[in-house]
Amino acid sequence: MKIYIADHAGFCFGVKRAVEIAENTLSQLDQDEKIYSLGPLVHNPQVVEKFNKKGLKVIDNTEELDNGKVIIRSHGISGNLQKRLEDKNLELIDGTCPYVKAVHNKVKSYHEKGYKIVIIGDKNHPEVIGINGWCNDEGIVINSEEEANNMPNYDKICIVSQTTNTQEKFQKLSDIISKKGKEVKIFNTICNATYQRQSACEELAKKVDVMIVIGGYHSSNTNKLAEISRKYCNNVYHVETPDELPLHEIAKFNTVGITAGASTPDWIIEEVIKTLENFNNNNILEAIEKTMKKIRKGDIVKGKIISISEDQVIVNINYKSDGIIPKEEISNDPTFDHKTMLKEGQEIEVYILKLDDGEGNVILSKRKAETIKGWAQLERDFKNNKVIECKVVDILENGLKVVVKGINGFIPVNQISVKHVDNLSKYKNKILKVKIIDLNRRKNSIILSSKEVEKEKLIQKREQLWNELNIGQIVEGEVKKIFDFGAFVDIGGLEGLVHISDLSWERINHPSDVINVSDKVKVKIINLDKEKNRISLSLKETLPKPWDTFVKNKKVGDIVKGKVTKIFNFGAIVRLEEGVDGLIHISEISLEPVKNPADKLKIGDVVQVKIININEKEQKIGLSLKAIEEEKNKKMEEKILKEYNNQELDVTIGDLMKKKMK
Ligand code: SF4
Repeated sequence: MKIYIADHAGFCFGVKRAVEIAENTLSQLDQDEKIYSLGPLVHNPQVVEKFNKKGLKVIDNTEELDNGKVIIRSHGISGNLQKRLEDKNLELIDGTCPYVKAVHNKVKSYHEKGYKIVIIGDKNHPEVIGINGWCNDEGIVINSEEEANNMPNYDKICIVSQTTNTQEKFQKLSDIISKKGKEVKIFNTICNATYQRQSACEELAKKVDVMIVIGGYHSSNTNKLAEISRKYCNNVYHVETPDELPLHEIAKFNTVGITAGASTPDWIIEEVIKTLENFNNNNILEAIEKTMKKIRKGDIVKGKIISISEDQVIVNINYKSDGIIPKEEISNDPTFDHKTMLKEGQEIEVYILKLDDGEGNVILSKRKAETIKGWAQLERDFKNNKVIECKVVDILENGLKVVVKGINGFIPVNQISVKHVDNLSKYKNKILKVKIIDLNRRKNSIILSSKEVEKEKLIQKREQLWNELNIGQIVEGEVKKIFDFGAFVDIGGLEGLVHISDLSWERINHPSDVINVSDKVKVKIINLDKEKNRISLSLKETLPKPWDTFVKNKKVGDIVKGKVTKIFNFGAIVRLEEGVDGLIHISEISLEPVKNPADKLKIGDVVQVKIININEKEQKIGLSLKAIEEEKNKKMEEKILKEYNNQELDVTIGDLMKKKMK
């Protein structure tokens, strides 16, 4: 806590003078002589009490006094009262401040010149009462804008101020009052001491966290200092004595400002400062004491690294001596390079191995602190089935040695991955995500599995994929396995089956006729059964359909070749291409009447047929053998006619054909 004292704090010139006058008078007083102060010598109960003990009695009126000395305090009194006291033969010791006396003179003079005296100030304050007495109490006392505005108009006005007013208030009110008179004399009688004290108070209040204003609660100028302080500082305490200081509240702040009213003696200010300083020092010691840790062997404490060397790390653990971590107590990880991985200023946790190694050093272990904390954390992680990280520090015959949370652990070879692992050395120094599958603190054994984490990831990936798949969707995949009944294709984490019938539009004997393992293919999802975990895929659906290709290249009238595949009463089915069949209706088999298609055709016959109809909507093709026969006959007729033209005019075409066919 830093303490600042405002300039001009404490006794002003006038009060100091009055106090000195009183002290001098008291020191020269005869034993049976009486001395009085008309009203408290200063507005400070502690000062008044001090004088009271020395024999200075405070009186409020002088009616019953008939002898003795009366000290007039710095506020001064009215001319009438002064005369009354003098008439009673009382000895007046005038402690009126010369600045106040100057106001009396000004008021008396202008009152005599016919000016209406206006005093800006508090009508109940003894200084104001005294001033008004110098114009036969005919002055008007104004203390607010409202009073100023309501004031009647006068030809001649003389404005003076209570000496302890603020400049701001005097300026504001005198501006209003000056409009109430034709001829206005304004005398800013605010005492310079007051102005200086108030300015210094304002300046200090602006820069500190808390202001302490010392002075009597009835002291006008002290109250004004408190008022100014509150304007510029959020935390202001007005006290008369050091006992009233709210020390624990004040201790929260870093900077404290002190000012004191004009009637506050130096000794009270000094006591306040001393009290604050003592409290501050005690607090600091207490704070230091509090921050100094009480440590025991086996404690785990936090500390800040001070220095790092090849063999040790020095740590400040807020103890009377710093701690040393020997190299072997730094980490369980043999690959941990403390010179590069620890930093000066870094906060770490350490275990107290020894409070004193014989040379006054505390011996610490970072490794052990990590182990103790690590076990507690690992037990929680095991219970919560949490994924954690570990570092592979060594390759063993049957698995990986790892460090997890500062403790040694082990991953068996069959728990490394979902895939077969034949080269363990690639894991050296790798950070792996793992789950604890067995933990035994007593046996110091931690078994971990990175395979479990991979499995979970796969399940998550599969679940996500299942949610993304839709029937009809075309996806890319890789052929993984081939069987007689079809092929399994991996479509990004899930495998689906392409049945042999869905591999090609053509008839195939084995899936390997069209695909091989590792082929990258596009397949269409034709069915999804999440419950049974079955995905049906089709390769042929991604290829052009034979019907579409056929109708694109052929038209009605074309002669095509085909194989008879089925024979019915109404006709025969001819396979034109794989996946494209046509029908030769019984009426289209021959020019001659056919009773049964099997009389003319048998299964396996390869025939040339004419396309006589294509019904794209129903995907039906009409074929005809008869049409070809007709065409053949027609061509033959034309040929014969050409050969025998004009030779045998009276023979019929039928005769010629019979002849030709013989
Ligand atoms: S405040 Fe000014 S006018 Fe009042 S007593 Fe002190 S010095 Fe005199």
